[in-house]
Amino acid sequence: MTDLAAWLPRAVAAIAVGQERFGAFAADPALLVDDAAMAAALDRLTDRLADTYPFFHPRYVGQMLKPPHPAAVIGYTAAMLLNPNNHALDGGPSTAYLEREVVAQLAAMFGVESYLGHLTSSGTIANLEALWVAREERPGTAVAFSADAHYTHARMCQVLGVEAVPIAVDAAGSLDLVALERALDNGRIGTVVATLGTTGLGALDPLPQIVDLARAYGVRVHVDAAYGGFFALVADDSADGVAAAPFAAISQADSVVVDPHKHGLQPYGCGTVLFADPGVGRHYLHDSPYTYFSSDELHPGEISLECSRSGAAAAALWLTLQVVPLTDAGLGRGLRAGLRGAREWHRLLTAGDELTAYQTPALDIVTYLPRRTSMSALDTATGALFQAASSGPPAEQVHIAQYAVSAAALAERGHALVADRETARICRSVVMKPESAAIVPELHSRLESLARSLR
Ligand SMILES: *Cc1c(COP(=O)(O)O)cnc(C)c1O
Repeated sequence: MTDLAAWLPRAVAAIAVGQERFGAFAADPALLVDDAAMAAALDRLTDRLADTYPFFHPRYVGQMLKPPHPAAVIGYTAAMLLNPNNHALDGGPSTAYLEREVVAQLAAMFGVESYLGHLTSSGTIANLEALWVAREERPGTAVAFSADAHYTHARMCQVLGVEAVPIAVDAAGSLDLVALERALDNGRIGTVVATLGTTGLGALDPLPQIVDLARAYGVRVHVDAAYGGFFALVADDSADGVAAAPFAAISQADSVVVDPHKHGLQPYGCGTVLFADPGVGRHYLHDSPYTYFSSDELHPGEISLECSRSGAAAAALWLTLQVVPLTDAGLGRGLRAGLRGAREWHRLLTAGDELTAYQTPALDIVTYLPRRTSMSALDTATGALFQAASSGPPAEQVHIAQYAVSAAALAERGHALVADRETARICRSVVMKPESAAIVPELHSRLESLARSLR
C-alpha cells in the first residue's frame, strides 16, 4: 500500500517549491498557533474521531463506505494547499483542466463520444442536474423511476416541481417493463430514470429495453449509475464480471450519473453527470459579474449548477486514475474481486443453516436473512444479529448493514413469512473491498454461529 506518511510530505514539499518562486513573505501573526496548542487540539480531534466504524477493515461489510485510495489523499492534499475553485478558470486553471481530463475518461468508460459533463459534489447534485435538464427539455412532463430507485429522485422531483411516477419492480428488484409500458401509455411521462445498481440491492434495471421503449414513446432516458457505474469496466458476462447489455446501453441514454466517491476510490465530494447532447449547455447560461475574466474559454461554472466546487476533488481523481486507470486490469481488478466475494457469499448462504439468501446479487451487494417464520420474528432476529456481530472486542467485530423489506417482496423471492407486520429488517453487506472478499467464508461462518447462538 502506498505509504501516506512518506508521500504526504513529498506533496507538501513539491507545492512549496512552486510557491517559493513568487518570493518570500512574512506570515501575519493573527492566525499563528503554537505547536503545543496544535498538538493538544489534534489529540482532541483524533480522540473524537475514534467514535467511528472500521470502514477500512475487511470485517466491515456494511454500508457502501470505505476510505479513499492513498493516491486520492495525496492528490487532494497537494491541490488543497492551493485551494483551487473549479467554478471558473479564474479559480485555478490547472484543476479545471484536470477535471476536463477525468470527465473525458469517465465518458470513455461508458463509450460516450460527444458529451457535456462535469464533476459535482455528490450523486444527489448530479441527479438533480440531470432531472433539471430533463425538465427544461420536456417541460410539463413527469419523471418515472422504479420503486427501488434512490429516494433522491422523488425528493428532487419535488424540488423541481415535477410529477414523479414510481414504477413497480420485479422479483429481482429491477424496474418492471410491463409496468413501465403501462405508465408510458398514459402519456404524461417525459423522462425515465433507469438505475444501474440500486442502492439497496445492487439490482440492474433492464436498460436496453428501457431505451427501446423510451425511443418508441419519445421520452428521455436518464441513467443513475451513482453506485454501479464503474462496473462498466467489467461488464463482460463472465463469471467474475457483470451483465454486459445494461452497461453497453448507457451510451444510448440522454444522461448518466456516476459517483467517484462510491466505487472510484475518492473521498466524499465527488460525483459526475454527463449529457449526451452538448447542446443542453444552453440551459446553464447565466451572466456572472464576478468571474470568467481570465479567458474566453468555457469555464466550468458555465456548465454546472453548483458555483464553487473543489478543484482538489478533480486533482484527487486525476492522480488516482493515473495509477489505477479505468481499465479492467486497473480499477476493474478490485471490482471483480468484490463480485467474486459476493457470489461466493451467496453460494454459502444458499447452503446455510441459520441464514439464507434474500436474492441473487447482480453486483457486490449481498442480502440475507435469519430463517424465521414470521415478519416480527425476522425483524427481531436481524436486529439482534446486527447488534451481536458489531459488539465485543474490536478484533472480533463484524459490521453489517440492515435493509427493510416488505412481506410481499420476501414472498416474491420464495420467503413466505407470516405477515404479522408489514416490513422487516434483513441483513445487507456491500463487499466493496477486495480484502473483505478474501475473508467471505470467515464472515459467513461467524455470522452463522452468532445467529445460532441467538436462537
Ligand atoms: C448514493 C446514490 C445516490 C446519491 O448519491 P450521493 O453521492 O450520496 O449524494 C443516488 N443514486 C444512487 C443509485 C446511489 O447509490
